[in-house]
Amino acid sequence: MASLADYPQIAAGKVRQLHAVDDQHLLLVASDRISAYDHVLPTPIPDKGRVLTAMSVFWFELLADVVPNHLVAWDDERIPDEVRGRALLVRRLEMLPVECVARGYLTGSGLADYRRTGTVCGIELPPGLGEADRLPEPIFTPATKAEIGAHDENVSFDAVAATVGGERAERLRELTLRIYSRAAEHAAGRGVLLADTKFEFGATPDGELVLADEVLTPDSSRFWPADGYQPGRVQPSFDKQYVRDWLTSPASGWDRASDTPPPALPDDVVAATRARYVEAYERLSGRSLADWPAPRG
Ligand code: ATP
Ligand code: MG
Repeated sequence: MASLADYPQIAAGKVRQLHAVDDQHLLLVASDRISAYDHVLPTPIPDKGRVLTAMSVFWFELLADVVPNHLVAWDDERIPDEVRGRALLVRRLEMLPVECVARGYLTGSGLADYRRTGTVCGIELPPGLGEADRLPEPIFTPATKAEIGAHDENVSFDAVAATVGGERAERLRELTLRIYSRAAEHAAGRGVLLADTKFEFGATPDGELVLADEVLTPDSSRFWPADGYQPGRVQPSFDKQYVRDWLTSPASGWDRASDTPPPALPDDVVAATRARYVEAYERLSGRSLADWPAPRG
């Protein structure tokens, strides 16, 4: 049986770690850490890593006829017991340096750019759009990965073409929009709006593009409950609203504008947030988290 210590860690983000398994495989490990307002919170959310991992696998399977993906295994002897259920064995790829974002609705950095320029990533949009408005059609709004601590930067399609070549840029746009549409259609059938989402692609040695990283999780996407959708205001986020509301309430004693790190979360906030993650997974996938592997030993 493999142990995590057998696999050298090659990278660590805010909430995930990447380990090398062999020349051709990596282990992508999701932790239970949660971030809000650009801080990683001191209190983990139990099962968050499992939920996000299970969700990625659900989507990889659903999208298999749209795009090949990097998933090799999620429950076999190469997955260490201690991270079982929150780690994926994946094909090691040459990652493309583009965050492939699709947006069906206008919010966040897309809305900020639109308000400044009337465009997002160089794409002209009709006048008069506001917070959370649905776009006439989904758009490809690529970004470049920022250094640790900075925000990703939206870039034009031409900038992507200059980086990866025109043909590959076209292919990234086409794949991103096809995956978005398929996923948004599925989510809508489950009462969830997929406002926007970010994909990362890698290339195989023979140049095939493969969907990599995590996909269509609350950490890489904005999911909005369709029944509460009300354009013109910031939509409540499915997963983190409870945490954000508590952090900015007097109860937390935390000043968001200060340099101080956020305080530990009380048990009821942890429990409510955990329940939201589980609900998001079960609602979108129609599966039960109880059926998903859990750590052993
Ligand atoms: P953060 O998301 O916290 O800003 P990050 O993006 O640097 O940080 P993570 O998202 O935690 O880090 O780590 C995942 C890393 O693994 C990313 O750099 C991603 O590009 C890379 N990755 C994902 N899938 C593969 C793959 N199949 N082959 C090689 N690298 C991959
Ligand atoms: Mg990342």
